[in-house]
This record gives sequence, structure tokens and C-alpha cells, in this order.
Amino acid sequence: MKNDMPPTPDELTLDEIQQQFATDDAARAYWESIRWPDGPVCPHCKNNEAKTIWKIEANKDKGIRAGLHQCGECDKQFTSTIGTIFEDSHIPLRKWLVAFYLNSASKKGISSLQLQRILGLGSYRTALFMQHRIRHALRETGSVFKLSGTVEADETYIGGKRKYVGKGYRENKVPVVALLERGGRVRSRVMPRVTSKNLKAIVYKNVKPNSEIHTDEHPGYHALKQDYSHHTVKHAMGEYTRRENDRIVTTNGVEGYFSLLKRGVIGTFHHVSEQHLPLYLAEFDHRHNFRFETDGFRTVEALKKAKGKRLMYRRPAN
Ligand SMILES: [Zn+2]
Repeated sequence: MKNDMPPTPDELTLDEIQQQFATDDAARAYWESIRWPDGPVCPHCKNNEAKTIWKIEANKDKGIRAGLHQCGECDKQFTSTIGTIFEDSHIPLRKWLVAFYLNSASKKGISSLQLQRILGLGSYRTALFMQHRIRHALRETGSVFKLSGTVEADETYIGGKRKYVGKGYRENKVPVVALLERGGRVRSRVMPRVTSKNLKAIVYKNVKPNSEIHTDEHPGYHALKQDYSHHTVKHAMGEYTRRENDRIVTTNGVEGYFSLLKRGVIGTFHHVSEQHLPLYLAEFDHRHNFRFETDGFRTVEALKKAKGKRLMYRRPAN
């Protein structure tokens, strides 16, 4: 850290957070610099003229909380947490910063129990609440870019308790499909049922036409032939990688992704409910997509996603 400049994303470490953002004021100022890189914007009327936005001095006696701004255009007041996952939370922003960092820096994620201990939170529920809000922030919303190049597609089954049904048990697991650009980004989604129709739909929605798709021999992918260059490896025959001239056909990349996800879900989170699984997927996708960056950079990218997520929080849609 140089002079009074906040650390750049790459300079951001846990030590920096704890030293530079130890007070609520410092943590808020840093968050404001991420939320409003070009200065405050009024969430009510979108006014962003520095001349017509004032900071209001906090005053406990008068009940004026810290971080309040006054908009001269619409005459309303606002803070930097309005419309973000931090809104209505009584947890200090400095703790949120640490939680975001730990979430982004831990390869398999961090358990709520661990977070509770590290941050000295009053209850496990508070830690879980923070985790879910962070994961919610990490979910992609609106129109998302499409994957391209060579994309490996595969499905797996996550979590669930064993359930006795009739004569025997069946594993009450939830199917997850992941699309992974070789050397690039990943997008994973819960799929209610693995059918040809659903597999086709997720690929068409998320992968550019004419891209190359590599899968195993699951018949559900056959229909992709029409619009994609589809290649399969025959796992049933013990084939995991096949060379076709310059092309290497494999789904090893996406399987590696699943293996990290499963180790995280089993090792760190123990049990993940079906309802919350999309949130965990968002967390693992985020870390994968910024895996070549520093922990600090990954943290700042996560923080940037905290805005515009407030209304959707209560009932996350799949
Ligand atoms: Zn305004």
C-alpha cells in the first residue's frame, strides 16, 4: 500500500484488509470505491454529478448513521449498501470484506462454522446468512455471454441423503450439468432431470453455435450434432482421451471441475440442500473463472457482483 491509496485488486490480501480496513469507515470507503468507481450515484434518480451529492456527517445523538449521502437532484438520501446484498444487514462491512476474501481465496470454499470462528460472529446462522448472500452475489444474472471454442459438457450427481424407496434405497442426489471451455470459463447448472431435451436446451442457451462440444457417450447429447461439432469419448470402453489428428477429445477438464466441487461440497459443506445447490455452483464457478488471478483480484470481482442483487435474494430462482 502506497500513501493513502487503497490497495489495487492484486495487492489486496487478508493482511491488507485487516490493516487498512479495520474500521467501519475505512471498510465503507473501500466498498464505495468498488461500487462507485466514478463517484457516488444516487440509486433513486441515478444522479451522478459530484456537485449535487453531499456526504452527511454521521451523528449518533441525532440518529444519523454513517455513510449517508444526500442527493440534491431528488432530495433523497442513500448509502452505498442500498440495492446490494449488504442492505439490511447489521454485520459491519469490514467483516463482509474478510468473508468475501476467504470465500474467494479458499479453493474448496470455507464452511460457515469456520467463518463464524474467524469473524467472531454471534451465531452459526449469521455465518450461514453471510455465506448465502455472498453466493447469491456470485450468481450470474441477466443475459450471460456464451461459451465458445472447445467446450466439454458433462453431468454429475451431487449431495442428497440416501432415501429408502420401496425395496431398496436410491440416492436422492441432484443432477448438475457443467459446460467448461477448455482452458477457459465454466458454467454449471442444476438440472431437474437429465433428458435429451434439457441437455440440448442448456447447451443451446450457453454455447455459441458451431463450437466444438466434447462429451461422453450419453445419448442425450446426440441431438447436438445439428448445430455443433460434437465429439465423444467412450467411457464404457475405458476410453478417456482420444486423439483425432490435432484434436484431443476428452472430458477430463470438466470431470476435474466436478471432482473439486464434490470434494468441496462433501469436505467443506457436508450437506448441501437441493434448494441451495445453485448458490454453491455459483461460488465454485466464480473461483474457477478467475483461477489464474490473485486472491485479491478474485475478491474484488466478487465484491463488484454484490450490487443489484438485493431484490432477488429471498427466493433465489434456478
Ligand atoms: Zn437522487
